[in-house]
Amino acid sequence: MSTHTSRTWQHAVVTGGAGFVGSHLCAALLESGAAVTCVDDFSTGRPENVAPLLDRPGFTLVRADVAAGVPVERPPDLVLHFASPASPADYLRLPLHTMEAGSLGTRHALQLAHGAGARFVLASTSEVYGDPQQNPQDERYWGHVNPVGPRSVYDEAKRFAEALTTAHADSEGTDTCIVRLFNTYGPRMRGHDGRAVPTFVRQALAGEPLTVTGDGRQTRSLCYVDDTVRGILAAAAHGLRGPVNIGNPGEITMLDLARLVIELTGSDSEIRFIERPTDDPAVRCPDITLARDKLGWDPQVDAEEGLRRTIAWFRSGAAH
Ligand code: NAD
Repeated sequence: MSTHTSRTWQHAVVTGGAGFVGSHLCAALLESGAAVTCVDDFSTGRPENVAPLLDRPGFTLVRADVAAGVPVERPPDLVLHFASPASPADYLRLPLHTMEAGSLGTRHALQLAHGAGARFVLASTSEVYGDPQQNPQDERYWGHVNPVGPRSVYDEAKRFAEALTTAHADSEGTDTCIVRLFNTYGPRMRGHDGRAVPTFVRQALAGEPLTVTGDGRQTRSLCYVDDTVRGILAAAAHGLRGPVNIGNPGEITMLDLARLVIELTGSDSEIRFIERPTDDPAVRCPDITLARDKLGWDPQVDAEEGLRRTIAWFRSGAAH
């Protein structure tokens, strides 16, 4: 079965479009022939991420905080709500901003979609599963989340955003879809954003020790950004309401990831174990049966190939 991408869009609004995932989404949508309005406050995104798009016909950049509104001039037929700090370093630095992007920002993005009769896609996260008691996680699992822990500003904002999206669909008839993204990596991640892949790559290329938290046996499943973007657009094109997991089920321990980055960079860095953050999940792996069955979507880029591409991008100096 091929990935479900038959539907095309006239005008897509991407909130958070100057961020890591959002900028790849904007590029893919432009490539498909859609006009794209990127709404971003640059709180964690970078102008460089969308600089190559500024000259492209149909691309508009609006600088705005979505907690105050999503100001666009032309009605969209697709709204992708991606505005939110996403790395732990960012959301711990911006706790209230994160909660407002997930709550007020989601409300404004939903209102925009509803008013225009547009399809709405919420970027939710595997973090809604918290420190999961079942592995892998399928969409029926309700999660194991600490509502007052340090990560709660992100987890609970996304859980609220999912509830608000569901309420909007039920009470207003808005055409909504919730995608639960698992860890995604690739070019345009910031070397200092605190997430494992950019941290390890930056450290390996600088010849510094790779800092693995705890004993390194905690796992993550890493999805290359092109696969994630393809999954998001397949979910948008399909009438599916979700939630639907989008992630790569290839689970890897953080220690093995560090070793792989050292091997692929040819670095002589060592591994240094540091303290593990509070409430850091022990395992994280998506069950993607739903995405496979409904969307015909499967990740295609394995960890080695995705890391090679990411390392090449960091080596090019574009990360600075
Ligand atoms: P990112 O930090 O690179 O991008 C987020 C973007 O949103 C940035 O450009 C930032 O400036 C913008 N933004 C934040 N708050 C805003 C606000 N109030 N108003 C306007 N713009 C705002 O993060 P990312 O990794 O690209 O994540 C994008 C989305 O995908 C987020 O919603 C995140 O929760 C979700 N997600 C990402 C991953 C991942 O592994 N990257 C995993 C799960 C979910």
